[in-house]
Amino acid sequence: MPAHRAAPRPGRDRALATLEREVVGCRRCPRLVAWREQVAQTKRAAFAQQTYWARPVPGFGDPGARVMLLGLAPAAHGANRTGRIFTGDRSGDWLFAALWRTGFANQPQSLARDDGLRLRGCWITAAVRCAPPANRPTPQERDRCLPYTARELELLDGVSVLVCLGAYAWDAALRLAAAGGDDRPRPRPRFGHGAEVRIGARTLLGCFHPSQQNTFTGVLTEEMTDAVLRHARELAGLD
Ligand code: SF4
Repeated sequence: MPAHRAAPRPGRDRALATLEREVVGCRRCPRLVAWREQVAQTKRAAFAQQTYWARPVPGFGDPGARVMLLGLAPAAHGANRTGRIFTGDRSGDWLFAALWRTGFANQPQSLARDDGLRLRGCWITAAVRCAPPANRPTPQERDRCLPYTARELELLDGVSVLVCLGAYAWDAALRLAAAGGDDRPRPRPRFGHGAEVRIGARTLLGCFHPSQQNTFTGVLTEEMTDAVLRHARELAGLD
């Protein structure tokens, strides 16, 4: 077994499976439930023949992860369609290619839940589990959903580095740290690409979100993405 591969822990794995079932069955936010299901009915023309997932999207990855990637929320026609986080949209194409180049993934593409993708040493999740209209959850929706991520983080107790994909995820990670009892650093750490702050036993790393808005304009390049992921590996002791 590779040095960074944690031994199986049946209790933890069962607890993660229980959490996943709870997340997938959640209907606590009426606005988001209505939106995720409406999108699944209207669909995008390119996916007209597909059946959308249309449920909350659970986290995904290696239960022995030392690095967690945190995003905002599922994309309406991406993870809300495929049922796996960052799977089925351009942001995911960018992210999984980078995870493959930096040794976290066994393949550069993420197409569907059954495509054989495996992550090593990392786990990917989101602050909010249902696709929100205009990618904007309300503060109440965020506060309802973030405890799922807190529980996930508690179960994934090998995680020492959180890579925050965008300012929203950075803010969510600071909230998770405060909810977990860690003192929030003062002044409040500002998000930026490559921003780094240690809070308690974990390090937060900032990474621009791999949205087309950033990747098409050169705000985020492959080199910039890979540099953050490689640094995460170093900090987490994976190399
Ligand atoms: S956003 Fe989170 S809390 Fe709200 S319905 Fe979806 S899974 Fe439940």
